[in-house]
Amino acid sequence: MEQKNRFAQYDLQPEILEALTMLKYTQPTPIQEGVIPKLLAGHDVVAKSKTGSGKTASFAIPLCNQVEWTENAPQALVLEPTRELAVQVKEELFSVGRKKRLKVPVVFGGMPVDKQVLSLKQKSHIVVGTPGRVLDHLRRESLNLSMVRYLVIDEADLMLDMGFLEDVKQIIESIPQKPVMMLCSATLGEHVNRLIEQYMVNPDMVVIEEETETAAGIAQVGYYVENEGKLDAMIDLLAEDIPENCMIFCGTRDMVDVLQRQMKKAGIRCGKLHGLMEQKERLQTIDEFREGRFHYLITTDVASRGIDFDNITHVVNYDFPTGRESYVHRIGRTGRNGKTGRAISLIQESEKKMQRMVEEYAGMTIPMNELPDHGSPDLEEKRKIFFRKQRERTQLKARKGAVFNKSITKLSIGGGRKSKLRPGDIVGTICSIDGVEESDIGIIDVRDSLSYVEILNGKGDPVCEALQEKTIKGKVRKVRKTR
Ligand code: AMP
Repeated sequence: MEQKNRFAQYDLQPEILEALTMLKYTQPTPIQEGVIPKLLAGHDVVAKSKTGSGKTASFAIPLCNQVEWTENAPQALVLEPTRELAVQVKEELFSVGRKKRLKVPVVFGGMPVDKQVLSLKQKSHIVVGTPGRVLDHLRRESLNLSMVRYLVIDEADLMLDMGFLEDVKQIIESIPQKPVMMLCSATLGEHVNRLIEQYMVNPDMVVIEEETETAAGIAQVGYYVENEGKLDAMIDLLAEDIPENCMIFCGTRDMVDVLQRQMKKAGIRCGKLHGLMEQKERLQTIDEFREGRFHYLITTDVASRGIDFDNITHVVNYDFPTGRESYVHRIGRTGRNGKTGRAISLIQESEKKMQRMVEEYAGMTIPMNELPDHGSPDLEEKRKIFFRKQRERTQLKARKGAVFNKSITKLSIGGGRKSKLRPGDIVGTICSIDGVEESDIGIIDVRDSLSYVEILNGKGDPVCEALQEKTIKGKVRKVRKTR
């Protein structure tokens, strides 16, 4: 028997509940239990919680539920400190709002502003952006905040650390009526608190205590190493386990660069993520790692903060962390959702003091082990298998939102803004097809001389066929299925 989705307790719209079921969200996480009813009731909320807790959906679900589909101007604004987080959060909002056909444009710097202006000009329900670019659009008057009823300030501490305080304030003050506000932060320092006091009204606090205890499913192990031979030691350890999905942490951006070069040279397919990389390259790396195009991601604490990767089987501390909390955060990337994971730490003499501090903080000791016997025939054999695997093609993983794509067909239509084609013209014609209703039409994107429309519920083929003959705004258009 199919189990009832526990999100049904919140009296959500059927489209939202259906999307959650398709995403396999059937049981609210503790932060969601805390936040969802409060936002739905229109209370301001401050949430102190770390990534991986389901924080994004805790606001995505109420926001998607509360916005009105028929309204053209954005009704919710979500601020994110970095572009990567903005994209990730947009995807979550888009997935949760998929069945309600919500439009969720994302705006951030480092990408052409004109395209974003065009997408903001179309109907949009929830806008996600970084503070700088949001302000830029406000100045250009391409972003209309007059209908905004919900505002989320995500990763507030990171946002303020990055110097966005004044921008954030300016944005809040540009919203004409006081929105329902949610502020999320891993820490609640002085500046974050001041922001809360200044702009939020009796916020409900939802605190999901920082786990100092490490999850039971994580097998930790440490190895004392010297700087010389450290790379070989790690490759030996990787060859023993052949991790399926591994994050390798370094202390600095330079070290990330160096290690990636060394690993690539050795023949290991790997990617890197750090703050000095080009915007596009970072987003590409995140996508490729999620798709499984490579299995080893080398990164720093900061660059990967907040970025959600599923199913990490191994975490390697190539450089031991320099903060006690950071160890717990890093290794908490693995062993999630009832799965087991391994956390491997390479520890040099100079890092032993930090090891003791971590152990005291987390109330455990990291079991130390002997390094495998480098150069032994047994290990050489394992290394051979490991390197052979690096050259094999891998099966790519479907993206999370892909569950929605099965019953959706995207059609391209000849004609767009230049010929004054409007979404209403497309909807009008499609709804005149027998057996097709407005609810079968998904997102419509009208560009300069081409438009796109999504046909839902598996009706793509008959609609495409009918449109070969029917007129849209007085003309038979070239209509094709797109990939
Ligand atoms: P976040 O903390 O928002 O980065 O979310 C961490 C991960 O948990 C994301 O991959 C979400 O898609 C997933 N997630 C969020 N809520 C649920 C839920 N109720 N059930 C299962 N997975 C969830």
